Amino acid sequence: MRLLGRGGMGTVYLAEHPVIGSRVAVKFLHEAMAADAHVVSRFYDEARAVNLIGHENIVGIYDLSVLAPGRFYYVMEYLDGETLAERIRGGPLDPAIALDVLLQLCDALQCAHERGVVHRDLKPENVFLVQLRGRRDFVKLVDFGIAKLRDARAAGRTESGVIVGTPEYMAPEQCEDGPIDARTDVYALGVIAFELATGRLPFVGRGVAPLLLAHLKTPPPRPSELAPVSPALERAILRALEKDPGARFADMAAFAGALRAAQAQLPARTPPPSPALRPAAGAAPLHGGPAAAREVAIEAEVRAGGAASLSLAVRELTRSGAFLRTDEALPPLLSRVRLSLAHPSLRAPLALSAEVVRHVCGAEAAAWRMDPGFAVQFVDLAPADRAALATLADAQRAPTAVPPAGSAGEPLLRTLEARASASHYAFLAVPLDAEFADVRRAVQGLRDALEALRIRPLAADHPARANALLVRLDAAQAALATPAARLAHDAERGNALGVSRCLAAGVPRALLDARRAELLRAGPGRAAEASRQRARAEVARKLGNAGAALAAYEAALAADPLDVATLDAYLALRRGPRRGPAGR
Ligand code: ADP
Ligand code: MG
Repeated sequence: MRLLGRGGMGTVYLAEHPVIGSRVAVKFLHEAMAADAHVVSRFYDEARAVNLIGHENIVGIYDLSVLAPGRFYYVMEYLDGETLAERIRGGPLDPAIALDVLLQLCDALQCAHERGVVHRDLKPENVFLVQLRGRRDFVKLVDFGIAKLRDARAAGRTESGVIVGTPEYMAPEQCEDGPIDARTDVYALGVIAFELATGRLPFVGRGVAPLLLAHLKTPPPRPSELAPVSPALERAILRALEKDPGARFADMAAFAGALRAAQAQLPARTPPPSPALRPAAGAAPLHGGPAAAREVAIEAEVRAGGAASLSLAVRELTRSGAFLRTDEALPPLLSRVRLSLAHPSLRAPLALSAEVVRHVCGAEAAAWRMDPGFAVQFVDLAPADRAALATLADAQRAPTAVPPAGSAGEPLLRTLEARASASHYAFLAVPLDAEFADVRRAVQGLRDALEALRIRPLAADHPARANALLVRLDAAQAALATPAARLAHDAERGNALGVSRCLAAGVPRALLDARRAELLRAGPGRAAEASRQRARAEVARKLGNAGAALAAYEAALAADPLDVATLDAYLALRRGPRRGPAGR
């Protein structure tokens, strides 16, 4: 849907699942790096390393794959928030927040280290702060791009032996290419702690070499000389910043212990960081939305694999997933489970399939003050299931949406119902070559209005009608809102203008070629017809008959809409001869 950011290894895009609507981030390895097998395997190592850790304060990875021939990518949890770097641009963090953030990082890193993964590039840019289940400043650590499985290589060097890391946060042993271990991350986290507490870095050099030298030789300044920092916090920071790894905290758990001591000494204890994570706070929506919640018990019968079914409480429910509370053994990640949801508002239990996407074990639950259990994402939802889930999810949420002024419900519903059997473009009232942003705006506008009518109906039949139209809207969105889906849709209907929009939006060439081959295979006469029409168009063009050439190009594109060369020729001709009489 849009570019989120670029880093040293890849470019990250926001993406939306065309069917279930969940949002994810997709990281593509830079194309120029795809030729290097080492780089490719390091890119995938990142995804594997992160998956191995499986900690809630580390970005979740869902899938990894390649678009032939060489676009390597993986799909991860989309983080909607700001980075710690952005947050501290305004100066030092409030000590209570700083300690809360640091403790979450310690916990995530301890978990990573126990599984043999050292991050090696800790810095505020790689720490996201998001809002999760009503809790602010929930830490999500990203970019394990240069992480190494600790025991994979004795010296912990990269294949190439080049210095990797970010000079401001690099431990002495990293500066001189020495052995790397968990304590290397302790040092980097010490630099971050220093920065959060004082608003500045311990070492600022002009250039990389003086900076590396400072990490190796210069004692850091005392934080309390730069800002009001408590003695306990100062002790913790300076210990983490010891030059000799042996003099630092031995692991993140020890660092966390010292930070907790500093936390205990905070003058006026701030309220606990995450009231919404406590079971008593009831169900809050999993993905954003107001946390205001009513206690509505939803019971789930869960059957995982061949095991007997269990009756579990549903802690959170959205249209795409749920969190289930249990003290029992958790079903394996990514395994399928069958759920049967029961609630007074349902006439019969709702039977659904789902995939296990997250574990929260007992120890983690205690540390994060939430329930133990597991999260699932629903799969293969039928339209009726989606409607029922929507109703159920709403039952858990206090109504907040109000129909927009002036969108009197009845006319809106009538108009949309009349358009429901028309094309997706007509349903959304956008042109055939609409920009993606306009498609999304149209979808969002209609969705908001329909949701509002569903939650605050103006007549008894409004919720049901709005629900039906939301399902219709989902279909239009699935078909048109993402370039890959729209390409298939437009190609099938010979909408060359739409196809050209998709190409401009960056549909990968490999995908295009694959779709084109599929299309030509399915319609055996297409290729021959297209080539006949192309020849006619060329002749007409040479004779200076632009009108006939355009018509022939259109006929060629109707037969073979993914022929990019013809599309370009057609669009160039459409733009008019004034561009240059000699063509290009
Ligand atoms: P690299 O390994 O190439 O440095 P990063 O993983 O740091 O790449 O990602 C580059 C940028 O993309 C980040 O700085 C961040 O702005 C954005 N980004 C990365 N992952 C996500 C995500 N899961 N959700 C949202 N934005 C992300
Ligand atoms: Mg990065």
